[in-house]
Amino acid sequence: MNPIIRLNEITKRYGGLVAVDEVSLTVDRGEMFGIIGPDGSGKSTLYKILATLLKPDKGTATVCGFDTVKDYKRLRTMIGYMPERFSLYQDLTVEENLSFFASLFGVSVKENYDLIAPIFGQLERFPSRKAGALSGGMKQKLALSCALIHRPEILLLDEPTTGVDAVSRGEFWDMLSTLKRKGITIIVSTSYMDEATRCERIAMMNKGHILDIDTPSNLVAGLGENLYNAVSDDMFGLLTQLRSMPDVIDCYTFGATLHVVGSNSFNSDKAMAKLLVSGHKDVKIYPAKGNIEDVFIKLTRDERE
Ligand code: ADP
Ligand code: MG
Repeated sequence: MNPIIRLNEITKRYGGLVAVDEVSLTVDRGEMFGIIGPDGSGKSTLYKILATLLKPDKGTATVCGFDTVKDYKRLRTMIGYMPERFSLYQDLTVEENLSFFASLFGVSVKENYDLIAPIFGQLERFPSRKAGALSGGMKQKLALSCALIHRPEILLLDEPTTGVDAVSRGEFWDMLSTLKRKGITIIVSTSYMDEATRCERIAMMNKGHILDIDTPSNLVAGLGENLYNAVSDDMFGLLTQLRSMPDVIDCYTFGATLHVVGSNSFNSDKAMAKLLVSGHKDVKIYPAKGNIEDVFIKLTRDERE
């Protein structure tokens, strides 16, 4: 393994609030690494520290062997950072935004155009359109092009797919895979749990700290729980009643069904019979396949207990 990023007990406070709490992790060169967590879990604060824009209160962070505090000037040329809600100048045109970011880094758009061509391609048709007048998906492509124009070794993408339609989201992840194949290390955050599977490894964050770090498939395999789907004609009543059953560890809404975490003594046939007796119609309880969202719920539950 060849870590390109090393975080060692990074802590950041805003007044009395601990936004990032003793976070330690490493990211390997060339890896697609995900930071997954709900709003407020500390993702953006961590990004700002990695991007050398914020000093940690405690701990150290190195990128390519350089310290994010002491060597910040050097690091800024090696990092491509796409902040939350993008960093574009809304009143500048597509072309002007790109040239501006290139000039910040002392490069010409031309010399690195090969890297962004597959992404920027669709924007070539309207170079004079103001960034503010682009669709969400197009803004995202322009912002990514701007973050790449100096050919960074590392891409820091903070929730790049938030507020972007599902088709553009899919396309965006495909673009990231292409960039990864070119050797760029990518650290990408999201609060969409389904996007986690597009990463090689993920850090699951909650309330400033790391719950676990592993490959998505290892995390799901580690669920080791009796997981079921449950449906009936009265979903709310079903939720309340399942939660009150002694052999049910947890029950929560999951898309159009409920997910039930049963203890070893949970028996789905007996539970269905009980629910039918108490007036539920069309009750079905059947085995469910867990995913990253179930992992997140389990990890936060384990922590509470
Ligand atoms: P995320 O990106 O996962 O939503 P953030 O890093 O933005 O998380 O925020 C983590 C916590 O720190 C939140 O509770 C947020 O309200 C708080 N926070 C973030 N930035 C500031 C700031 N500049 N001043 C005070 N509190 C902040
Ligand atoms: Mg954020």
